[in-house]
Amino acid sequence: MGIKENVKMIFDELPKDVMLVAATKSRTPEEILEAVEAGLQVIGENYAQEAEKKVNVITDRVKYHFIGHLQRNKVKKVVGFIDMIETVDSVKIAEEIDKRCALLGKVMPILIEINSGRESQKAGVFPENADELIKRIATFTHIKVMGLMTMGPLFGDPEDARVFFVETKRVFERISSLKIKNVEMKYLSMGMSNSYKVAIEEGTNIVRIGTRIFGARRY
Ligand SMILES: *Cc1c(COP(=O)(O)O)cnc(C)c1O
Repeated sequence: MGIKENVKMIFDELPKDVMLVAATKSRTPEEILEAVEAGLQVIGENYAQEAEKKVNVITDRVKYHFIGHLQRNKVKKVVGFIDMIETVDSVKIAEEIDKRCALLGKVMPILIEINSGRESQKAGVFPENADELIKRIATFTHIKVMGLMTMGPLFGDPEDARVFFVETKRVFERISSLKIKNVEMKYLSMGMSNSYKVAIEEGTNIVRIGTRIFGARRY
């Protein structure tokens, strides 16, 4: 099946209030354009350099979410064209985003990345530390915290991912109930090609899908 058919099939399956973010790492602009022609509206980028090249080709018909691990020295490169950063996990990176956005007169919507599997080598804040981090980030005036994102450990069986989605949803509800000023808990970004159906059952409203749209990855 082609990219267009894949996108249409996924849209048919998604509830109306769930946003599809196409994870486009390693894909060519031509491949991404095919997905856009099939109705895709949000592109997920993992790498600052790769993203920069693609935005010149793919136009203002789409929005861009940054979904990779963002390094401090790459923030300047991406804040101009990225519409949401889904992977903020430290005050340090938030501080840099705030500073760069202030220079542009822009407020960046962000999600806090939760390390729901508590895996030491992975990005994201541990669930129990999320409240403290968000309270601190909420004080920045050129950032708006709008929810949470998680990867979770990778499994062959998507059922194994469910507990990590449940845990992230629990953090989401807890933070919502705190009613922190300048924080609007609106988005939950969970689930990839093999796990998005489980993530939807557990209340996500953003799914990030690569392989199921574009086929097996090149890297
Ligand atoms: C690559 C990637 C995805 C999508 O993975 P697939 O298994 O190809 O659907 C989702 N989220 C992030 C952060 C990614 O890097």
